[in-house]
Amino acid sequence: MYDSIVIGSGAAGSAMARKLAEEGNRRVLVIEKRSHIGGNCYDRKDDYGVLIHEYGPHIFHTGKEEVFQFLSKFTEWYFFGHQVVANVHGKLIPVPFNLNTLHMVYEKDKAERLEKLLISEYGEGSRIPIMELRKNDNEEVKDIADYVYENIFLHYTMKQWGQTPEEISPEVTGRVPVSISYDNRYFEDKYQGMPKEGYTPMFEKMLAHPSITVLTDTDCKEKIKFLPDKVLFEGEEFLGEVIYTGALDELFDCAYGRLPYRSLDFKFEHYKEDSFQGRSVVNYTVSEDFTRITEFKYLTGQDVSGTTIVKEYPFAYTGAKGEIPYYAILNEENRSLYKKYSDRFKNLPNVYLLGRLAEYKYYNIDAIVERALHMADDIIAGRKK
Ligand code: UDP
Repeated sequence: MYDSIVIGSGAAGSAMARKLAEEGNRRVLVIEKRSHIGGNCYDRKDDYGVLIHEYGPHIFHTGKEEVFQFLSKFTEWYFFGHQVVANVHGKLIPVPFNLNTLHMVYEKDKAERLEKLLISEYGEGSRIPIMELRKNDNEEVKDIADYVYENIFLHYTMKQWGQTPEEISPEVTGRVPVSISYDNRYFEDKYQGMPKEGYTPMFEKMLAHPSITVLTDTDCKEKIKFLPDKVLFEGEEFLGEVIYTGALDELFDCAYGRLPYRSLDFKFEHYKEDSFQGRSVVNYTVSEDFTRITEFKYLTGQDVSGTTIVKEYPFAYTGAKGEIPYYAILNEENRSLYKKYSDRFKNLPNVYLLGRLAEYKYYNIDAIVERALHMADDIIAGRKK
């Protein structure tokens, strides 16, 4: 009946399924636990007609031509240069901290001197992770680093991760480096924006292929068993590719313990006014229990009366019903626990692990689409894992 099975219909699973069907001539079964496709990119209109991202704001950005071309087959785009500000004791300053921010937080003469200093230390246009900037010996650079650390990173990171910036992986804080430029954009990528009609229609179109069958509301465990040396599909050995994009621990009933994740509680609020904060994202970096407020209409470009916002409250994922594991917590201990689970697939050459959950990684949308496309290329070409 099927040549390949993809478990999960998020960005990873959907891109994989499409490539296997279209270029690999495979009949693909996609199995999805939730009642909808699109994974955490899923968006929909709320009760007030506002297009919202059910699982938190997802801003697409990429410099990867291949990814952009692939996705553009399924959507048009609403382009914008995504900008974020931090609310620091009521004052809104651009994040990543850049030369505009510098001039907002220091008086004129000092800001001009510091600007010259930063340019001479790092070069115009460079981007320096805060944890790197903190290592600089120059007293004045240290001063800036302390300001940025204290006002932008420390409290936000404590809320988001329950740990200090020193305790988490440097690649996480390195996502938002200090920028020696006047560019207020959050990302530098060439393409930034939203699928014009939303993510859900984009993924629907991706999966709408005569050789793809999508089963929603289906726990893969009902159909598939991962034995040490073979995969069973509905009780029979399945020799085609199986691409798994879910969490590994849950597949094996957490036999070695739970893989730690951070989760988020999203509190949506609707207002009759046409604007709540006049911009898409405000990070609360020194106050509040939530990390940020997103106002959707400024992300999606939707022309609608009234406005819907979401506040994000992070917490430690426990696996309780209804909780969603959003962010892998990247450290040695967790990686070795992850390896125990991934080793269970060692003797299963036809099983592939793909995505934020299955690989226990911090992937952006474009990076996971790229990985899915390349993995599909390898599968189609018959290259070994
Ligand atoms: N971060 C911070 N303050 C900010 C923005 C980011 O401390 O105003 C840190 C925080 O640790 C966060 C990480 O940088 O988890 C990555 O931020 P990003 O916006 O990329 O997170 P995402 O949008 O993926 O949740």
